[in-house]
Order: sequence, then C-alpha cells, then structure tokens
Amino acid sequence: MWNIKEIESHQKTLIEKYAESTDVHQKASLAFVLYQYFIMLENCGTLRYTGFYNLLSKGKLEVHTSRQMRYEALVDRSYQSYTFLRNPSYLSFVVELLENLAEIDEVEDPVFQPINMNEDYLYAFSEDFYRSLDDEEITPIAFALLEDRTNYQISSRILKGMENYGGITFHDPFFNKYYALISKDHSIFDLQSLNHETMHMVDGVMNPCFKHLFNQAFPEVPTYTIDYLTYDYLESQGFIESEVSKLRTNSYLYAKTLSIITLQKVKNWQRDSKDNDPLPIALERNLLEVVSIVLSYGLYEEIKKDKDLGFQKLKDFMKTDFAYDEKPDFSFIGISDENLITYSKTLGRNDSFTK
Ligand SMILES: [Zn+2]
Repeated sequence: MWNIKEIESHQKTLIEKYAESTDVHQKASLAFVLYQYFIMLENCGTLRYTGFYNLLSKGKLEVHTSRQMRYEALVDRSYQSYTFLRNPSYLSFVVELLENLAEIDEVEDPVFQPINMNEDYLYAFSEDFYRSLDDEEITPIAFALLEDRTNYQISSRILKGMENYGGITFHDPFFNKYYALISKDHSIFDLQSLNHETMHMVDGVMNPCFKHLFNQAFPEVPTYTIDYLTYDYLESQGFIESEVSKLRTNSYLYAKTLSIITLQKVKNWQRDSKDNDPLPIALERNLLEVVSIVLSYGLYEEIKKDKDLGFQKLKDFMKTDFAYDEKPDFSFIGISDENLITYSKTLGRNDSFTK
C-alpha cells in the first residue's frame, strides 16, 4: 500500500519548488508530476479518511481544481509532438496496420468470472510469473519492486476517468519513486494488471533516460509483451482455461476497437486539417499505441521462438530513446516495417484467438 504520509510530504515539497522555480522546463515537469499526484490522490480509496480528503470536502476543492487545470495546461504545452506521424508515407503505413487490426473478429465482450484473490496471492502470483521469465535483468528488478509494497495501491474502486484501465503507473523523477495504482476487478484480470503495471516500473528502472509514459513514444510495448506472456503462463499453470481465453479475447477486442476509432479520427483529420496542422495529441497517442500493439505481438513471437534472443531484443528496445522527428526504425531488433504488416495481418486473421 502507498505510504500516504510520504506522498503528501513529497507533494508539499514539489509545490514549494514549483512556486520558486523560474525555469520553464523544470516548471513544466514539476507541473506534470504534481498533476499526477493530484490524480493519484483523487483515486486513492484510503484518502477518504485522511486530512487531505477532509480538506477537499470542506469546500477547499476549488483551490485544488484550479491548480489541477493550471497543471494540465502546462502539461499540454510541454507535450512534444511526434512529427514523423504526420509524414504521409508513415501515416499510410500506420493506416495499413489499423485496417488489418480492424479485421479482428467482432465477438461479444467477455465477462470475467468473479474470483476472490487477496493481495498476498496477487503479489505471490506476480513474483512466480517474473521468476518464470528467468531473465537476469528483468526478474531481479521486478522482484525488488514487488517486494516494496509502497510502490502499489490496489483499490477496489473504479478509478475516476480510468474506467477502461486495469491500472496506471506514475513516476516521480524528483524523488525517483514509482506508484502503481491497480483497480481490482476481482477476476483473473487482476493478475494481468499487476504484471502489467510492474512491467511499466521495470521499464522505468531499466531505461536511464526514462521519460514519463506520457512523453515516451511506445510505453506499452514492454507491458503488452508481458500481457501476452501472462496468458501463456496462466495456461501453463493450469489456470481455468475459459478465463484465460477471455483475457486474450479482451486484448484483441481492445486492439480492434482502438483501430476502428483511430481510423475514423485519421479520416476526420485528413478531411478537416490544413497543410501544417499538427495531429491532435490524443490521435498521436492512439497511432503510437497501435504500432505498439503490433510491435509487442512481434516481440512476443520472437520470445516464443528463442527466449533469450527475444528478451534481449525487448531489453534493447526498452533502452532506446526514439526521436520525435524521425520515423522509428526497429530493424536494430530485427523487426522491419514489412514484419509489422505481417504481424498485424496475423492478428487480424484471429489465428491467435484459438491457441
Ligand atoms: Zn500500460
């Protein structure tokens, strides 16, 4: 469980720093971290009983809300565009990926069977999973993170504004502290969420020039790879087969829905924008995420073929910083654009549903 006292004291220090700072960049990144703290504390179920929450309920909410808006504005301004996405040939490449993923079978949203697992069970599962990966870098980092429970908050409430997520991970670079927030679904999905959020933290620890998820080009590549590996692991452990297959279906349906929405947004943008209009931030994030879905599927296939080599590729990827204005080239991990097209077709053909 998060150490709320520590969080509040960090927050206080950063607010002071923010007020004193005159450097625009530092101010923007402080704003971003403070914004994260704000969201985090809003979503933290235990806060109801703390002084902070009382402060909110005593009518001081406005102060916080206006501060939140100020932070949000600063954060948006500090967002740097990935201009390669606007390049017509790159955009048409991503559109091809989108069209292939949109072919994924339309099936009903799976409903997970309720399964009661306490926190100790969840952590033990995640440890066993990362042990099974048996990677000399990833496994010990994951162990250290899982051991320090102040990195995690497992909440039974649905996270505000995050209804579609199993969790979210924040990083405070000023105190170099990670915070994972997991929304308990009381189903097999919780096992995926814990492994997923832990991998976000592993990614942060392993990349010395880690930028926050918001400013990373492909933050979900390591975590989606872990999702796919989690399904196989659950199966190998004899977990209820029908529930594991619901997890797979869930992730393919997500890819399909995201692709359809994103295709529409691209069409609208192409219709309405003028020559030098930037892509909306949300559309950029969607396009990058779709590339991530396909790339992580490719890495998962590589790991299945040759575990050590596959993990080496994943780690090389995690340690790479991608330029804002240059088309990303994944050939250094042996994945070309043609490979990505092939993987997107595999996903679109639903071969992977039935395994
Ligand atoms: Zn994630």
